[in-house]
Amino acid sequence: MKIYNSLTKNIEEIMPIEPGNVKMYCCGPTVYKDQQIGNWRTFSLADFLVRFLKMGGYKVDFIMNMTDVGHLFETSNDPEGGEDKIEKQSVEEGKSARDIVDMYSKMFLEEYKDLNLTEPRKFTKASEYIDSQIDLIATLEDKGFTYETTDGVYFDTSKFEKYGNLSGLTVENVKEGARVDPNPEKKNPTDFALWKFSPEGKKRQQEWQSPWGVGFPGWHLECSSMILTELGETIDIHVGGEDLKMIHHQNEIAQSECATGKPFVNYWVHGAFLTVDGGKMSKSLNNFYTLSDIKNKGFSPLDLRYLFMTSHYRGSLNFTWEAMQNAQNTLNRIYDIVSGYEYDERAEVSDKYIKKFMEKLDEDLNMPEALAVFWELIKSATPESSKLNTILKMDEVLGLRLQEHIGVEIPENILNLAKMRNEYRKNGIWDKADMVRKQINDLGYVVEDSQTGSFKVKKKL
Ligand code: AMP
Ligand code: ZN
Repeated sequence: MKIYNSLTKNIEEIMPIEPGNVKMYCCGPTVYKDQQIGNWRTFSLADFLVRFLKMGGYKVDFIMNMTDVGHLFETSNDPEGGEDKIEKQSVEEGKSARDIVDMYSKMFLEEYKDLNLTEPRKFTKASEYIDSQIDLIATLEDKGFTYETTDGVYFDTSKFEKYGNLSGLTVENVKEGARVDPNPEKKNPTDFALWKFSPEGKKRQQEWQSPWGVGFPGWHLECSSMILTELGETIDIHVGGEDLKMIHHQNEIAQSECATGKPFVNYWVHGAFLTVDGGKMSKSLNNFYTLSDIKNKGFSPLDLRYLFMTSHYRGSLNFTWEAMQNAQNTLNRIYDIVSGYEYDERAEVSDKYIKKFMEKLDEDLNMPEALAVFWELIKSATPESSKLNTILKMDEVLGLRLQEHIGVEIPENILNLAKMRNEYRKNGIWDKADMVRKQINDLGYVVEDSQTGSFKVKKKL
């Protein structure tokens, strides 16, 4: 598979370090409020990539973090980071920081499922990696890459020769362009905090002991430390939104490579931003949308998923309600078509169309063109049951849950078994329920339970 690598600015063939196994990381959410649909675009990109690699026969060891520790977020507009969003939200909602992150983590995970995104091996929570973040700072300190100021421990970017290799912002060119630096104790404007001290006389809700004093880790550190701990010193693919490239990802590279002396990431994949009504989403313009907003207007999460697939991940995608409506209409049409096809598990999957579909994805994950192949198949003269099996194969990447729309009749005896099993479950007789489930499986069907206590029976695919 070929992908655009932001580090080399070339489309390159992915060659995993370990043949057949891809190590992949995606910068996940900060869990202090509802995720907006732009975040979901980036997480969907990670999902499409994982699914396609798996379809191509790779094993993917995928990790995504959840930032549940408040940081001062450095951005290009505000290099010192204005405020700790988690603490701020906790004051606004009158809840503890812990309650805030628990509540929004739960919401994030539910929505993640709704969008049918591939679960990583682990959602790593920053708060559970404080020790390894402290170890990483200690390593950097031992190697002479850090210095201390009155408010924290900083990384000296002038000591990392390659600084700017991803962002293009070198220590020199930033120095020249810098206005008055808001932190005069920093040696270079590009330097960033590894550890921040809690302000004197003020107890933060989230703070930890460290060899340098009580405080909290810098934001960039968490991704480096979780990658090192979970995936190793060098990984294959790192995904994130394009806004993270200049500072966050450049700093991840600096910390990690200085600590290990090894290359950090071989392929950097950045997704373009989602815009709304042609511009940035903003609360003041009243066009800041979350998945709940989408659902409240009568759309399903998979409608949004379909909309994401209609644009290439490196191209901008402009969200409008009209585009959302078109996505829903198209997806409903697909469901109609699929439910009308006769299902025959023995029917052949069309190699020709699968090959064509994969070729489009092979070229820098071109989802819109892969979708075009999907439609071409639907319109082709391929026999229906063969079309259906080919579509189901494609759905391994598309993730539209198309198998749920196949019009297969469930035989009486299977339905009766499923009802019997549900009775056992209701009465807490789990061993019998499991036995019946196995019996149903052996007969070629599966039962799926919903949270409301109902169940669905499907033919095993
Ligand atoms: P955040 O919680 O803001 O750190 O964002 C989580 C992920 O979503 C990061 O990879 C961001 O780059 C990405 N992201 C944030 N806003 C957008 C947007 N409007 N479009 C696409 N991706 C976004
Ligand atoms: Zn990150």
